[in-house]
Amino acid sequence: MSERADPPGRLALVQALVNTLDLETGGDALDTPQGRAPFGLTEDTAGPARELRESLRAALLAHAGHSPHRAVTPLGELLARAPLVVTVDPADGSAALAPVDDGPLLSRVAAAVAEGVTAGTWGRLKACEAPTCHWAYYDRSPAGRGRWCSMQVCGARAKMRRYRAKEA
Ligand SMILES: [Zn+2]
Repeated sequence: MSERADPPGRLALVQALVNTLDLETGGDALDTPQGRAPFGLTEDTAGPARELRESLRAALLAHAGHSPHRAVTPLGELLARAPLVVTVDPADGSAALAPVDDGPLLSRVAAAVAEGVTAGTWGRLKACEAPTCHWAYYDRSPAGRGRWCSMQVCGARAKMRRYRAKEA
């Protein structure tokens, strides 16, 4: 399995949203209609989505024990505005939290977080600790102590920096 494999279930939506912004280059996929389309966003709704994105990134940093990368609206405050319903499958009685009427992005993200909490996967969706990166990734390490989006990229860079610091 590749290190960049998508997180399970609906958390893939959260990861995809957080990773619409490349912090290193400043490139923002939500600036273009093609980039907004997968999230059902328009130019008008992209603003709140950007706020949601950074609140999510701060929560994913917190999962790895890091403080927020900048001041954000607390994620819980945003998600509290998301209308959700409890759905029950008549076939097997299984229940889940779902967005109302297939809802706006905020509700879909709230449902994804709720699903991740139930599945025990939410805490493993993290943001890379490298300040120029903070990319969202799913930590598949056995102990759940992953620190970087990719050992090959950010992990190697951090190791190289430490190595140089020792040599100096
Ligand atoms: Zn990284």
